[in-house]
Amino acid sequence: MPSPFNYDLLREDWLALSARIGRAAAAAGRDPGAISMLVVSKTFGPEAVRAVHALGQRAFGENYVQEAVAKMDATVDLPGLQWHMIGPLQGNKTNPVAARFDGVQTIDRLRIAERLARARPAGLPALDVCVQVNISGEASKSGVSPAEALPLAQAVARLPRLRLRGLMGIAAATADVDRQRSQFRSLRQCFEACRGAGMPVDTLSMGMSADLEAAIAEGATLLRVGSALFGDRGARAAGDS
Ligand SMILES: *Cc1c(COP(=O)(O)O)cnc(C)c1O
Repeated sequence: MPSPFNYDLLREDWLALSARIGRAAAAAGRDPGAISMLVVSKTFGPEAVRAVHALGQRAFGENYVQEAVAKMDATVDLPGLQWHMIGPLQGNKTNPVAARFDGVQTIDRLRIAERLARARPAGLPALDVCVQVNISGEASKSGVSPAEALPLAQAVARLPRLRLRGLMGIAAATADVDRQRSQFRSLRQCFEACRGAGMPVDTLSMGMSADLEAAIAEGATLLRVGSALFGDRGARAAGDS
């Protein structure tokens, strides 16, 4: 039976990706061990998660709640999986997200954080959250403005059952590396403002397949990578829309 999933190609892409991250870290004078990765498995099935898990990956990012929960159910036998919500979150989806995910990177208003805090089951550890900042200024992107990042982070940090880990941002789709870097730099400045205000944040989630070098140069601690491993998803899931 032909496999719908090309394991050899995935392994090659995995090695190429590790090499890319290593080169970018070296160019930036950074320890590659300080840069981790969410593998973005949206639109790919549980077999993709299994294959990347076998390569040692544990943290996965998903954009669509229903799709993610079905994938979680299909991979419950895999030890150590962590699931992070990286898509825009609607108020009516906070219950399944609070019950099933380990983290949410797309907090863009206090109301959503409050709902997640109320819905997080008592038997689970606190939900790891990041505030999403709109660093590209594009109307199509979610997230608060850089000026709103610190006050929202401070309000979120006060909520029970959530653990504020840091900030997330998506740069504009552009090949202009200087533009990528200036957008990532604005996120890092928000992150430093949080630390300066005494918050113990450790996650600067920025950089995807097309711009991870620029993100690493600007201090990313967490990359979110999909297509560099799995190939193109097609039109359905083009990022944050
Ligand atoms: C889809 C998605 C990614 C992964 O993008 P690639 O270009 O496939 O690496 C990262 N972050 C977010 C928020 C996404 O929606």
